[in-house]
Amino acid sequence: MSDAITVSPPATPKVGFVSLGCPKALTDSELILTQLSAEGYATSKTYEGADLVIVNTCGFIDDAVKESLDTIGEALAANGKVIVTGCLGARAAEGGGNMVREVHPSVLAVTGPHATQEVMDAVHAHLPKPHDPFVDLVPAAGIKLTPKHYAYLKISEGCNHRCTFCIIPSMRGDLVSRPVGDVLKEARALFEGGVKELLVVSQDTSAYGVDTKYRMGFFDGRPVKTRMLELVQALGELAAPHGAWVRLHYVYPYPHVDEVLPLMAQGLVLPYLDVPFQHSHPDVLRRMKRPASGERNLERIQAWRAACPELVVRSTFIAGFPGETEAEFQHLLDFVREAQIDRAGCFAYSPVEGAAANELPGMLPQAVREERRARFMEVAEQVSAQRLQRRVGATMQVLVDSAPALGRKGGVGRSYADAPEIDGTVRLLPPEKISKQLKVGEFTRARIVAAEGHDLVGMPV
Ligand code: SF4
Repeated sequence: MSDAITVSPPATPKVGFVSLGCPKALTDSELILTQLSAEGYATSKTYEGADLVIVNTCGFIDDAVKESLDTIGEALAANGKVIVTGCLGARAAEGGGNMVREVHPSVLAVTGPHATQEVMDAVHAHLPKPHDPFVDLVPAAGIKLTPKHYAYLKISEGCNHRCTFCIIPSMRGDLVSRPVGDVLKEARALFEGGVKELLVVSQDTSAYGVDTKYRMGFFDGRPVKTRMLELVQALGELAAPHGAWVRLHYVYPYPHVDEVLPLMAQGLVLPYLDVPFQHSHPDVLRRMKRPASGERNLERIQAWRAACPELVVRSTFIAGFPGETEAEFQHLLDFVREAQIDRAGCFAYSPVEGAAANELPGMLPQAVREERRARFMEVAEQVSAQRLQRRVGATMQVLVDSAPALGRKGGVGRSYADAPEIDGTVRLLPPEKISKQLKVGEFTRARIVAAEGHDLVGMPV
């Protein structure tokens, strides 16, 4: 009798993954993880359990640079084999060399952002892929780092503007819009994979297609222009059969954005616009070299609200930009009050290495920048609280993000007015009806009974 030969399946190589940075970096991470999984790599939750580690970095502000460099150091100490990707990977050190390589010379490879193929090449070189890729194990929607019910959809990369406080174009290059057919295909797979909220992201969503001269693309055999209006309309139509939400981020107040408001009024996409105004005073906007800085933003918002009264506007601002006078700052406070900005974030200006604004005259002392930020937030929070208060008594649709004990103890969700991570929430009380269950990733209706700080409290009905 001959001995039976047992062939053990090859050990599955394991990759650790750390994802830092903004939603755009998150979508890069998702693409890499999807590819790793498609090729049969497993992921490890610990540095020690991984055969190598990929760190997706952020290089936007100095704190993010430090966090990224520290994380790479930790991964090197714990694992030893580290591949770096993301914005920091594209950044030069003072002497002109690569910053990551200068600080951590032992990393295996360094790439910039949106470099799935280069990252995969580095993985293949240092951790050869298994023989039988289990392609079929990958869900059509890919691997999501966000909870299963919402997902970010990146429609373009890079930016044609040159805002003086920003170094993103020097790291990510000029605008490159993804083909509209690819974007819509990805959106359809996400909805079919159970995504109930699609968050459209880019550096400048309103500029979608400018680089392609609004080229005619194709989706499902029908022509669709590579342009914001057509994209938003098509996304809304894809979302509708699933009852899903489409939310637009990073939209600049160009006149053509007005065309999207009727789609919001019809309920095809959420009446929510994330518009990073950064300031209101025309002179400050000019010094910032902001896109659409010549537009009359207050009038534009008022016209938007007239076209779609439900509209929620979220924005970010910078207080204490170089040369900002007290009168210019007051203009900003008046703008937030008059425009009734629903949700506002504010940074005290901080110089970013390599940004043109560092050369502008009139740098304000840090104490003044911080003090203006605090004054700004006080006004913005008053406006926001008043706007939230108006919701009390209304019944709203809420997407449930968490619901312990089958929702019998209540849960936490969001209405159309709240984007995940950046806005408030709706705290859901335990349902009165014993038969009512709250399920994560599903919608419920809730009667708003109170407003608390940035959040609402709702009774599921
Ligand atoms: S629009 Fe301005 S702030 Fe935004 S990425 Fe482009 S240059 Fe940077």
